[in-house]
Amino acid sequence: MQRVSVDYDVCIIGAGPAGMMAAIAAETEGVSVCILEKNTHAGRKLLITGGGRCNLTHIGDIDDFVRDCYPYGNTLKPAFYAFSPEQTGAFFHEQGLKTYVSENGSIFPESEQAGDVCRILVGQIGQYGAVVHYAQQVRAAEKNDDGFTVITEKKRFTCRAMIVATGGKSWPQTGSTGDGYEMAQYFGHGIVRPVGILCPMVAREAWVGGLQGLSLPKVGIRLKIKSKARVFSGEMVFTGDGIGGPAAFDVSRVAVELLNYQERVQVTIDFLPDVQRDELSSLLIERCAAHPKKEIAGVLCEWFPKRLSAFLQTCICGADRVLTCAFPKPQRLKLVEAIKAMPLTLIRSGPLEKATVTRGGISRNEINSKTMQSRLCQGLFFAGEVIDIDGPCGGYNLQIAFSTGFLAGKSAAQYVSVLK
Ligand SMILES: Cc1cc2nc3c(=O)[nH]c(=O)nc-3n(C[C@H](O)[C@H](O)[C@H](O)COP(=O)(O)OP(=O)(O)OC[C@H]3O[C@@H](n4cnc5c(N)ncnc54)[C@H](O)[C@@H]3O)c2cc1C
Repeated sequence: MQRVSVDYDVCIIGAGPAGMMAAIAAETEGVSVCILEKNTHAGRKLLITGGGRCNLTHIGDIDDFVRDCYPYGNTLKPAFYAFSPEQTGAFFHEQGLKTYVSENGSIFPESEQAGDVCRILVGQIGQYGAVVHYAQQVRAAEKNDDGFTVITEKKRFTCRAMIVATGGKSWPQTGSTGDGYEMAQYFGHGIVRPVGILCPMVAREAWVGGLQGLSLPKVGIRLKIKSKARVFSGEMVFTGDGIGGPAAFDVSRVAVELLNYQERVQVTIDFLPDVQRDELSSLLIERCAAHPKKEIAGVLCEWFPKRLSAFLQTCICGADRVLTCAFPKPQRLKLVEAIKAMPLTLIRSGPLEKATVTRGGISRNEINSKTMQSRLCQGLFFAGEVIDIDGPCGGYNLQIAFSTGFLAGKSAAQYVSVLK
């Protein structure tokens, strides 16, 4: 059968990291490709990643990524095999981007400029003729015998295969407003309710408000699920009504899930994760003996900022001034316990709009993870955060965007090539 000609073989909606990588992967297969992007430039969210420094991936092999992205690891496995974290490094290195690995395994450009990462992606699009049409907000897409008609406010584009890479629903000012959900629903896909993750958590305890703005470079947040305990370590910041920062963000990935079934999630904070209880107790005895006229809060300043030291002293002793010479053993043990396991009750996550990543989106059961193609509509593919998949802090979510984008791009090109 003679096929009607179309504007492009593959049309990608969204020029975020997933959409851009999809375009690069598809065009190298020799098919014609376009991206439709509602903004006037690509990668608006990418430009603010990692506080503008862009944590582009994480150290580790595919098995590590599959494990760390639990419970989505197995779904993501084929995408990680198609474009691994190692290949991400090689891709950017080949374009002259030098990277470094931080203490916790996160990988950043040496320049610490997300703009450099974005420029490379934009520069690579078009090597084989792919184009980006900016200021084209896709309103709808329809399927017909020859493929799809994609309708923007200004134009209609026809294509054989379509990749939806419109991102999640957080930070809507960057363009990620959840438009892809409606497009997917039109083709019969189910949407898992979107909620924010990798975000601050609101706590029931009022005392956190007194520590607002205080940042601690390393804490351990312990969360018990049934008989298993998980500890999330890293930097933590006290917000006005709870906790934020990388360690709290990683807790949010699990806590948000639990809060679907229970009213609160109990955690404990270890303010000194590298010192064991016995050692801490001995250190306190030693410091108190050496400085009998000092306040307990003054001794604690050796390890903690002033505000936290004062809070811990008041919390245990109930008075503002407590001298080390009048600090009995039961109180010392209580203080050790407060430092090593301060209880905190998490009651909800921060708003979706302010979350780093959206959990939920297009149901992954209806997507063939080996190709990223819809199981419900031939020629329709998905990539990136628009899908109900996510990873922890540390560069995992960009890697997910790159890997799923690459696999969707390759698969869409192969799908089109078979039709030709
Ligand atoms: C503040 C912040 C910091 C982050 N830091 C990191 C980090 O350091 N490391 C990390 O791994 N992850 C980080 N993330 C997460 C990461 O940015 C996302 O997971 C990633 O950008 C998702 O890529 P995507 O291409 O799927 O979607 P997006 O980046 O959201 O891109 C989607 C694109 O689609 C476009 N679009 C949407 N609807 C339409 C439409 N109807 N028509 C046309 N175009 C449309 C949007 O304008 C946008 O350009 C961070 C996120 C935030 C908010």
